[in-house]
Amino acid sequence: MANVRLENIKRRFNNVTAIEDITFEIPDGEFWVLVGPSGCGKSTILRTIAGLENATSGNLYIGETLVNNVPARQRDVAMVFQNYALYPHMSVGENIAFGMKMRKMEPRVIQQRVAEVAASLSLEHLLDRKPKQLSGGQQQRVALGRAIARQAQVFLLDEPLSNLDAQLRDDTRAELKQLHQNLRNTTVYVTHDQVEAMTLADKIVVLSQGNIQQIGDPQTIYNHPANRMVATFIGNPPMNILPAKFTGGAFDISGQTLPLPASMKKFNFSTAQQLDLGIRPEHINISPEPSALTVDVKVVEPLGRETLIRATIPGSLQTLSIQAPGNIRPHPGDKLNLNLDLDYLFVFDATTGKKL
Ligand code: ADP
Repeated sequence: MANVRLENIKRRFNNVTAIEDITFEIPDGEFWVLVGPSGCGKSTILRTIAGLENATSGNLYIGETLVNNVPARQRDVAMVFQNYALYPHMSVGENIAFGMKMRKMEPRVIQQRVAEVAASLSLEHLLDRKPKQLSGGQQQRVALGRAIARQAQVFLLDEPLSNLDAQLRDDTRAELKQLHQNLRNTTVYVTHDQVEAMTLADKIVVLSQGNIQQIGDPQTIYNHPANRMVATFIGNPPMNILPAKFTGGAFDISGQTLPLPASMKKFNFSTAQQLDLGIRPEHINISPEPSALTVDVKVVEPLGRETLIRATIPGSLQTLSIQAPGNIRPHPGDKLNLNLDLDYLFVFDATTGKKL
């Protein structure tokens, strides 16, 4: 196994900059997730590590070896794609064995290894089937099996669950996590799904427009987002963003006045400064008393353990989501008094999106 180190990796396609200047190091055995909206450069980073793309500049190390000029085949990485890419004419067993055969390993060793891998992925009873006789989830397990069988130093997974339906995706996600707990391969996993990122990652790399926005463990990314992009990308429903104006001693949120929290007295907001206040739906409480913020209920979604309420600030188009306990069931048209949990209130510069 090996660590993976990217130093100032850039990739341009003619005049399109796919990735700007990417530097990070994944320690041996860790599971890192690259996450961000479509087009942010995730696949380009993964394909560069695999050797399927050449960086325009920068250095890439696998273990202690500089691999910039090492062809994909010799990089000792195993890649799994979203469309499985199994050989259709080969059985499951032959698909898993393929890489080992190519490397001319002894048939006895190959057979034993196929049996081990099939057992670890519950594929033993499917070894003689052809890919088209398998479900999507089973095909994805075979693709993983083929990667595991190669005993590569690094696993690269590009949206491996995105072709599976919701239930299967949840199950396979849990299996992947367990597999990594057993094998401890260095893994780089690309997804646009923040739930996958939160549940699988040792570390999350949040990307936007070819740049790293933040690197951190899931809790840090969730609780201490570096900027508005990270704050609104991670979390479901996303963090509420309330445009506000600083009026000296208070925030004006669409005509309602939120006194400046004591913890923010040290901030040097200028009068009339335009800000974006960020608050997660679970950090808004419904108050029986009159409060700073009053909203009109628009939509109520009972989800069992909790109720998701979508509301607007009267006289404005400003909407916000509130996550309340399941026994709270307001009706559309009701007015609610809200208290924001000020320990979890974020302030972003409205123009740059930077956290203040
Ligand atoms: P993601 O995986 O996050 O969706 P990609 O890494 O595929 O993003 O793409 C990043 C950017 O680079 C996009 O703007 C995309 O259009 C561009 N890009 C990727 N591959 C190519 C290519 N072969 N030729 C031209 N532009 C490309």
